[in-house]
Amino acid sequence: MNILILSRNSRLYSTRRLVEAGRERGHQVRVIDPLRCYMDISPHRPEIHYKGENLEAIDAVIPRIGASITFYGTAVLRQFEMMGTFPVNESVAITRARDKLRSTQLLARKGIGLPRTTFGYSPDDTDDLIDLVGGAPMVIKLLEGTQGKGVVLAETRQAAESLIDAFRGLNVHFLAQEYIREAGGADIRCFVVGERVVASMRRQAKEGEFRSNIHRGGQASVVRITPEERTMAVRAARIMGLNVAGVDIIRSAHGPLVLEVNSSPGLEGIEKSTGKDIAGTIYQFMEKHARLGKTRTRGRG
Ligand code: ADP
Repeated sequence: MNILILSRNSRLYSTRRLVEAGRERGHQVRVIDPLRCYMDISPHRPEIHYKGENLEAIDAVIPRIGASITFYGTAVLRQFEMMGTFPVNESVAITRARDKLRSTQLLARKGIGLPRTTFGYSPDDTDDLIDLVGGAPMVIKLLEGTQGKGVVLAETRQAAESLIDAFRGLNVHFLAQEYIREAGGADIRCFVVGERVVASMRRQAKEGEFRSNIHRGGQASVVRITPEERTMAVRAARIMGLNVAGVDIIRSAHGPLVLEVNSSPGLEGIEKSTGKDIAGTIYQFMEKHARLGKTRTRGRG
């Protein structure tokens, strides 16, 4: 197949592995910078141009769109979809996953277990928001953060109130969430491809930190997940409409809870900690499902 990887940086581990695994399987693979794609949005002959070249006859695209370029990156992906190119993850699913509020509501609506989460506008309701999540310590999350940025632990009620005041003053929206203390700074990343968890790892936050993100110094190790966690991860990915997803699950005293569903999960931590060829499994999925013009999200729920 003729495949494009939409990525700003071809030196990143995930991008390099996707190129390598695709070529090993006999595909033509190229990395292109989504910010250098521009488009002719015409009804009959939509086109995408890249540095002067008209991109034609592309069978599939693998979006690796960073959070800072979600708006432009998903527009490029949507244009590929208009042209009938198969996206490994569809643009609308990526947009959904990038919004913590929208995705939390979607998952809740379908009955996926989540930490108690609240959202509010008026300073008059701050007290209630805090009470609803069980008081301090509690977690406050900016709606559009990734890699643990904008996720803060408020140890006391006073700290929570000041943080909420500060965020409101800056005019940014945030979620208030129950703190799952018993997880001890650990969570589980389930890597979902299609209808399967193809690999999973436990991430442990470094000393003195509650966020387990690898980018924040979290350590990955092998973990066995339960059948319940496996089903939960697959369902969460499907609800978001993602074919490839990193589903983060936290083990609470009342069972596993989904923290978030990532639409561009990194390959480095998961491949190195499990020794599995995850890039290869993404191609297996594409080889099975990519048919020109098949760009609609599968059923969800
Ligand atoms: P991001 O999208 O920025 O990674 P997450 O919501 O996944 O944001 O939070 C980052 C990390 O913080 C998680 O991987 C987890 O280790 C920790 N964390 C997030 N929410 C909670 C919570 N409610 N209780 C305990 N730890 C949490």
